Order: sequence, then structure tokens, then C-alpha cells
Amino acid sequence: MADHDVDLFVIGAGSGGVRAARVAAGYGARVMIAEEFRVGGTCVIRGCVPKKLLVYASRFAGEFDDAAGFGWSVPAPSFHWPSLTANVEGEVTRLEAAYTDTLERYNVALVKSRAVIEDAQTVRLLATGARVRAGTILVATGAWPHYGPKIPGLEHVISSNEAFHLTDLPKRIVIQGGGYIAVEFACIFAGLGSAVTLVYRGENILRGFDDDVREHLRNEMRNRGITVTCGHTVAAVETSGDEFVTRLSDHSSIAVDKVMFAIGRRPNVMGLGLHTVGVKIAEHGGIAVDDYSRSSVPSIYAVGDVTHRVNLTPVAIREGHAFADTVYGGNLTLVDHTNVPTAVFSEPEIGVIGLTETQARQRLDKIDVYKTTFRPMKATLSRRDTRCFMKLLVDGTTDLVVGCHIVGPDAGELIQAVGVAVKMGASKADFDATMAVHPTAAEELVTLREKAVGYRRAAAE
Ligand SMILES: Cc1cc2nc3c(=O)[nH]c(=O)nc-3n(C[C@H](O)[C@H](O)[C@H](O)COP(=O)(O)OP(=O)(O)OC[C@H]3O[C@@H](n4cnc5c(N)ncnc54)[C@H](O)[C@@H]3O)c2cc1C
Repeated sequence: MADHDVDLFVIGAGSGGVRAARVAAGYGARVMIAEEFRVGGTCVIRGCVPKKLLVYASRFAGEFDDAAGFGWSVPAPSFHWPSLTANVEGEVTRLEAAYTDTLERYNVALVKSRAVIEDAQTVRLLATGARVRAGTILVATGAWPHYGPKIPGLEHVISSNEAFHLTDLPKRIVIQGGGYIAVEFACIFAGLGSAVTLVYRGENILRGFDDDVREHLRNEMRNRGITVTCGHTVAAVETSGDEFVTRLSDHSSIAVDKVMFAIGRRPNVMGLGLHTVGVKIAEHGGIAVDDYSRSSVPSIYAVGDVTHRVNLTPVAIREGHAFADTVYGGNLTLVDHTNVPTAVFSEPEIGVIGLTETQARQRLDKIDVYKTTFRPMKATLSRRDTRCFMKLLVDGTTDLVVGCHIVGPDAGELIQAVGVAVKMGASKADFDATMAVHPTAAEELVTLREKAVGYRRAAAE
């Protein structure tokens, strides 16, 4: 045995780090993991889990409204934000304990400290000053909210980290950003009763998503009373008594109780000692790694958001698992980052997999586009002004389904199942051959017969 204290030192007990530590320990490696905040990382403590619980809470208002069309009379409901946040915190604490318990069961030594890298095989724990020698170091430090350029009053701005711990529900809130986190929080706060203005510098929200999806959701958000202001930025935040005055780049201003920025997240690479040991940082700001998550220093690996590949929990977990299989399980394991299904927990929800129409047109010679918008059945009696949207993109040469885009109730659940078919290489003919489940919204996906449009590159004809 070399002069190591441990075989593996993991920095960061989030989605990727915990999985890697547990699987490596399962293979018999001596593992230590350092966490500077709370075990579970972003997903469990201030990301996916608490957010989804807030999403559930925010949807009750619509359900109460819809109930009347189905014969129910519901007494005027009231909402208590502190009860919600306390219950969410209770669930987060339960999950944190479950993660800690898993690490203990696998004999992973957990240290509650910030860790920094001193050399290619040494980590220093800031809480005690102790140095730990490790055969391999895994950096799984995640990402952190980015606030953009310094503007006057930036100190008053919160990020998603703080949004979970507000003492009161803001009556009025400005959220700057157009990505999924900004959109989700806009829908959460609007559902709970806040007046929400979403400010985004680009021409439309959800850059990178299919254009039809972006437009559809923007209209749905407007229908729910959310003000979506594109083409502007927040230029300054001023205090005025108990409220904040948000000055926009077009010189207009909005008085609110809270200002939140969700304009992106940066890989957590600062102050870790990466530069000193020669770990290369890629142009996108994350740790540059090879297909097996190995950095430019052979004894140092990195997984999850800190590598800025696909910044989602299941991807971080898969990368952590593949790392442990490769390095400790004797089984070289690659992670396939293509065709990752994903959801936006907006109201209504979005579920997508594969190419957008723009990407398909750039990459393929022939594309057939099938799409539909329709009123969800539940909205007939409730008379809610909402529409579902579904789109299939089909490679006109091979008949393979290369993209599926859904906006509507439970789109996240639907896309998980559709994702299996797309990942397996299902063709449009396979979709057509699948019997519909009636009456559902999802049946539209297997009954799309009319091409909305077909593109052919001139050379492909
Ligand atoms: C509001 C929000 C909502 C999200 N919703 C979703 C969703 O619905 N679905 C989805 O798939 N993804 C979602 N994500 C993204 C998801 O949370 C991340 O992709 C995932 O958590 C990344 O895991 P990770 O292991 O790379 O890092 P993290 O889970 O962030 O873990 C990194 C850990 O490292 C610790 N750390 C950092 N530096 C050090 C150090 N020097 N020493 C010790 N510890 C350190 C941190 O405290 C943290 O606990 C969301 C993110 C946010 C912010």
C-alpha cells in the first residue's frame, strides 16, 4: 500500500460526490469525503428537491380554481408561507440525514470542512488544518449562482439559495433571468400569489429550448398573470422605505418587495488550489476532463456541475458512478451525454429530449416536423385558458425520432417514458404502431399523422 491515508478523497458531498464515494467504498476503497455546507449538495439542500416541493405548493391555487367546474365549492383558501418553508426544511433535513447515513453504512469518512488541494495527492481541511494524502482526488464541488456585472444595489439581490428561506412571501417580485431556474421561480411565486415580473436580456426566455416551446410557455405564463419583459436588464436596485425600486435598462422602474437574479451558475473552481497543481480549466469555466472525468493532472478527477458538461443531478450521479466503476471497479465506463431527457417545472411543465427544430435543420438533410396544440381535457370543465403543445422531430432519411418537446401537465413524467423510446432509437413508425392510451394527453404523441412541415436540403433531394 502506498503512503496514502485514503485511496480516494472526494471534495463535495453533493449528487456526484456522494455517489462516487459510496460506489468506490463498495469496491473496497478507503474513502474520505469533505463537505463545507450540508450533505446532499445543491439538489437536496437548495435545488431540485425543495424547488419541486414549492412547485407542488404553487399549483394548489389553480386546483382550487378549477374545482368549481367539477361541481366543488371550495371556501376561500388561504396560504401560509412560513408553514410551507418549515415543512420543506423538515424534508430537506430528513434527506440530508439519509445521505449521511448512506455514507456511514459504506464506511466513508465524512468531514464537515472546506477542503483545498495542496498538491496532486494532498488535500488540506480548513476546519482543522489537517492534511490528508490520497491516491486519487475527486473534485465534485458543483456550481454557484452568478450575479453578473456589478450594478448599484446588487447587495439587495437574492439568488435561488435565499429564495427558500425568505421569512415572508413577497407580494411583488422581480426575477432577472430567462433560464429554467428563473422561469420555475417565476411560476412558483405567481402560483403562490405574488405579482411577478420576469426580466430577461435576450429576445425570448429559455434559450436553447425549441422556439415553439419557448413561445408557448411565454404565452402560458402571460395568461397566468406573469409579466415577461425581454430585451432588458436590471440596471440598479434602490431602496425606498420597505420596498425596492428596480431600474431597468430602458429607464423604466418597478417597485417590488424582493429582487432575485437567476442568470446562470458558475462552476465552483475558485480557491480550490486547482491552478497551483496544474488542473486545466476549460473555456466554459469548468474543470477540463476527458471522457472518464480525468483532469489534466492524472491523480485528480472531476464530476458534476464543476465540469460544466450537462448540469443536471442525474448526470452528476451517473458521472460519479462511472468514475468509481472505472477507477475502483476495474470497469472502464463512459457516460453518454447525448439525448438526456429534461424537464422545466414551470406551469405548465416542459419535458424535452433530443434536438430542437433549429438544431435538426442544421444537422440533418431531411426533417419532418409533427406538432399539435390542444386544450387539455381537464380545462374543458374548468374553463381554464391553457393549451398543451407537443412536437416530434423526425429524421426524414431514417424515420428516427430525433426530438420530442412537450408543454403541458406532467410533461416531466411523460418525457421520462418517451426518453426510453428515443434513446433506444425508436422510429416514427414505432410511435405510430403503439396503441394510444385513451383518454390521455400523451396519446397525441402516437396519433400525430399530419406533417406540419418537412424540410429538405437542396442537395438531399
Ligand atoms: C434552484 C435549482 C434547481 C435545480 N433543479 C434541478 C432539477 O429540477 N433537476 C435536475 O436534474 N437538476 C436541477 N438542478 C441542478 C442540480 O442541482 C445540479 O446539477 C446538481 O446538484 C450537481 O451536483 P454536483 O454533485 O455536481 O454538485 P452539488 O450538488 O452542487 O454539490 C457540491 C457540493 O460541494 C460542496 N463544496 C463546494 N466546494 C467545497 C469545498 N472546497 N470543500 C468542501 N465542500 C465543498 C458544496 O457545499 C456542495 O454541497 C437545480 C439547481 C438549482 C440551483
